[in-house]
Amino acid sequence: MPRQLLEEMNDHLNENDPKDGILIRLRGYYFYYNNPTEASHTVLVHRDTCGHCCFGAGHNNNAEPGRNGAWVGPFSTPEQAEEFAARHFPHHGGDIDRCGCV
Ligand SMILES: [Zn+2]
Repeated sequence: MPRQLLEEMNDHLNENDPKDGILIRLRGYYFYYNNPTEASHTVLVHRDTCGHCCFGAGHNNNAEPGRNGAWVGPFSTPEQAEEFAARHFPHHGGDIDRCGCV
């Protein structure tokens, strides 16, 4: 889903609607952890409304959750996500960067 649509949707979430409340709790920053076979990839921190991240659901509707890796988050700040990635996934190539969405 394009970032602009995600941001529009995010702007119109209603705190009194239980379904919207799920997405409200998923607001924040994420990174994608690739399985060790893809360990050379840089860990990129994304915003919830990034088209790649999509509130931690990812961009591919047909992807099998957990097959190639998993979205980790949400975190309150990009620094928190970076610190977590460095501490818990040190074998993951070592490079941590931010997507253009952050
Ligand atoms: Zn992004």
